[in-house]
Amino acid sequence: MAQQNQASSGVPLLDVNRDNAPHREEFIEALTEVLDSGRFLFGPDVTELEAELAGYCQVPNVVGCASGSDALLLSLLALNIGPGDEVIVPSFTFFASVSCVTRLGATPVFADICPDTFNVDPASVESLITSKTKAIIPVHLFGQCAQIDRICQIASGHDIPVVEDAAQAIGAAYHSRPAGSWGTVGCFSFYPTKNLGGMGDGGMMTSNDAAFADRLRLFAGHGMRPRYYHKVVGINSRLDTFQAAVLRVKLRHLGEAIEGRSTVAARYDRLLTENGMVDNGQITLPVRDPNAFHVWNQYAIRVADGRRDDLRSYLAERKIGSEIYYPIPMHQQECFEGMEFRHNGLAETERASQEVLNLPVFPSLTEAEQLRVIDAIASFYSASAKVAA
Ligand SMILES: *Cc1c(COP(=O)(O)O)cnc(C)c1O
Repeated sequence: MAQQNQASSGVPLLDVNRDNAPHREEFIEALTEVLDSGRFLFGPDVTELEAELAGYCQVPNVVGCASGSDALLLSLLALNIGPGDEVIVPSFTFFASVSCVTRLGATPVFADICPDTFNVDPASVESLITSKTKAIIPVHLFGQCAQIDRICQIASGHDIPVVEDAAQAIGAAYHSRPAGSWGTVGCFSFYPTKNLGGMGDGGMMTSNDAAFADRLRLFAGHGMRPRYYHKVVGINSRLDTFQAAVLRVKLRHLGEAIEGRSTVAARYDRLLTENGMVDNGQITLPVRDPNAFHVWNQYAIRVADGRRDDLRSYLAERKIGSEIYYPIPMHQQECFEGMEFRHNGLAETERASQEVLNLPVFPSLTEAEQLRVIDAIASFYSASAKVAA
């Protein structure tokens, strides 16, 4: 009986409502203020949020925009990237890290990843640099910084700008220095599943360079300055006041949210190890780079022996949420069919896309729920062991 109850209750991959519930009154108050002000764009919350995030990310300049995807596109626009230019980027990432390059007619060049952290391999980046390289986009995947110190060092040796894709990594740090404060520009997303998630779309760019940040703002506002005088061909990309109001509330609780995620991650590490699934090589735990402060936007395990998809189906049958970030590397996407991409081997990228499995992780996930996830994984392996015997 007990087992049946457990099986039927399931575990969600993410529960945004449960995470938001304790802050409901704060949200309503903040949103009502915006409603009553009538300033749905360019309201005071936008400026306040930018200032608060500048403090949080330890960068002097923050520019809000409509999404993380726009943050990346705006960064490349402001760097004058276009046809004939090459941009080095990992293939094991979300589409937006790459579509910003192809949309501007530039050419993505794909670096492989480190097998332990899933993050871009600095040695691979370095070996791909040519005179055509106009930017490097390291992605801080799953909430852990890439080796951004080495990447920035390599880039500055060649005078190449670094565009940090920090969409999954707000609050993360490398050598205690925050994500988004290392490169020429940092790009963040407020998509609802990100660690600082809005109630809709939103994004921001960070920069230590005031003149470059000003250029980002120019491109985000139709390249218009003053009104109806267009200096460059920009786009329309704004963070609206409702999102800014929501994000200000959530920013106040971001520290606790990250602590909650870290607790969840540490419990998974312990429970998966105690179950013997790590020692016998069936599952590999996510690896923490000792120089990184990980904020656990995702908890990504590797599943050995080609069993990832079977395990995922088994969990789905038991209503245990999981996801594959990402099943198809960018160089193999249908939209790029027929395109020849330069790279120097993407074996680790392709292996990761076959083996990675992302387990439920959010601040309010309970230990009881995590035990259900672990029990389901353990029973998958014991069931298959019986079949084999
Ligand atoms: C979410 C994400 C983006 C895009 O952000 P949006 O706000 O959804 O446009 C870009 N890069 C990475 C790595 C992401 O995870």
